Amino acid sequence: MNELYPWQSSDFADLQQRRTQGRLAHALLICGPTGIGKHHLADVFAQSLLCAEPQADGLGCGQCHACTLYAAGNHPDLFRLSPEDESKVIKIDQIRDLIEKVSLSSHYGRYKVVILNPADAMNIAAANALLKTLEEPPADTVLLLVTDRPSFLSATIRSRCQSLRQGLPAAEKAQSWLSTQLENSQEAAVLLALAGGAPLAALTLAADQLDRRKDLLRGWQQLASGQADPVKLAAEWVKPDLHLPISWMYGWVADMIRLRNGSEERLTNLDAKATLQKLAEELDLTRLYGLLDRVLDTIKLANSQVNAQILMEGILLYWSNLPRNKLSGQVK
Ligand SMILES: [Zn+2]
Repeated sequence: MNELYPWQSSDFADLQQRRTQGRLAHALLICGPTGIGKHHLADVFAQSLLCAEPQADGLGCGQCHACTLYAAGNHPDLFRLSPEDESKVIKIDQIRDLIEKVSLSSHYGRYKVVILNPADAMNIAAANALLKTLEEPPADTVLLLVTDRPSFLSATIRSRCQSLRQGLPAAEKAQSWLSTQLENSQEAAVLLALAGGAPLAALTLAADQLDRRKDLLRGWQQLASGQADPVKLAAEWVKPDLHLPISWMYGWVADMIRLRNGSEERLTNLDAKATLQKLAEELDLTRLYGLLDRVLDTIKLANSQVNAQILMEGILLYWSNLPRNKLSGQVK
């Protein structure tokens, strides 16, 4: 079953209402910020339009022949248009080909659905070619134009479309969904803030940050053995933003405490267990709790006016200067 993201129910209900009240235009412009699932909304709505027996809320049943074809990616009445090559442009030939196909009647006697994503990728010639179809659409055809940048479409195109503006989801809803998608749910708030409140963009960011987190842990480890300069590292760590590195630091220290307490089942940095175990063995539990307090203070101050570089230097110096039990390192 093709499910909506939890923040999309009211947008879908809006579309469904337009449909049941006979107000659905033959061309819809679905716009809104990047990373909130507009394309997915268009996709779910397309299935709903193709389905032989939609559910009470309008969602596709997932069982009928049309839904099966849709799920397999070969429903003959669904047309997807995106840039085909590295030019990142939707070209006139693609539009001409599309127009030819939608001029034929539908294979299953229901809608023909077109998803153009991103619609702003059409070049001028392609957009002009599409205009005729928007003015005199073939019967039972619904065009879904998806874009982050509606202003990049000509005013003429926009004026021929009914619009659906999908806004940013409520922070609480976005965060609770994102927490279920991340390995470390504690990063959800920070990632969401960095992604400007867009949950799918935050998820992409999380994937991009995996390598960086590994690099920083390596630096954190070198600081403990006096092999790195805290001031120099601080300068690197605050770029472009110090919130994520500090939240990682919090996760490392919390895990070090868990490892010392033997509560491994609650570890969040599963990939770094051996490293954190070794670092934890060098410190007394009281020092670890003191360190956790310092990290928490830093997190609080990071939202104030205090200079990021100074904050980062402070916590890295504190960490590198902690009195360590070096014996544990030699035993190994
Ligand atoms: Zn169905």
